[in-house]
Amino acid sequence: MKKVLVLEDESSIRSFIVINLRRAGYEVVEAESGEEALEKLQQHSDVRVALLDIMLPGIDGFEVCRRIRATNSRIGIIMLTARSQEMDKVTGLMTGADDYVTKPFSLAELTARVDALMRRSGGGEEESNGEIRQDPFLLNTRNRTLEKNGQRIKLTQVEYSIMRMFMENPGKALQREEILDLVWGRDYFGELKIVDVNIRRLRLKVEDDPTNPTYITTVWGYGYKWGF
Ligand code: CA
Repeated sequence: MKKVLVLEDESSIRSFIVINLRRAGYEVVEAESGEEALEKLQQHSDVRVALLDIMLPGIDGFEVCRRIRATNSRIGIIMLTARSQEMDKVTGLMTGADDYVTKPFSLAELTARVDALMRRSGGGEEESNGEIRQDPFLLNTRNRTLEKNGQRIKLTQVEYSIMRMFMENPGKALQREEILDLVWGRDYFGELKIVDVNIRRLRLKVEDDPTNPTYITTVWGYGYKWGF
């Protein structure tokens, strides 16, 4: 899951960033203070990239960065700096940030930076070896193919996307709304039923006994889970 934290106290800027990152396919966690950001990061340990504004009421973005880095070296951190804060860039990088973006920034620029960092932190589209192996399954993310016990299973693009989402989140209960957003995109205004239909079809292909699924299990009243 590609999850980003956005810390920005100005709500208009924050929602502008949040809306557009969601449009670009990210799951976004918002915070309006440094304290809230640290709290949210504890709740969402799977956040891969954090965007930190510097000027904040309470503890500032540098302090947030410092505290994150004290326990987490893996997360990507981008500081949001104002043009007048040239020095901040240096300070930010010294406190452990990976990158900075100067306000006002273009969306293309911001998204490109987040994408780049996401790839580096291992949460991006390109896995290092292009394979996710969970016996008896092998998903090849370069060829977009799936094998079970060495036998190729033919999948549609949507089925492939669902499988990839599952195999990237083993054992995690995924909400139907979440699946719809992840696979069909946030702009898709379809019905949740399309998720169920595709899951049913996918089960016919991947399960040993589709009437008694053991790989794709139903989480009643919620969604589905990939896990054995
Ligand atoms: Ca601010």
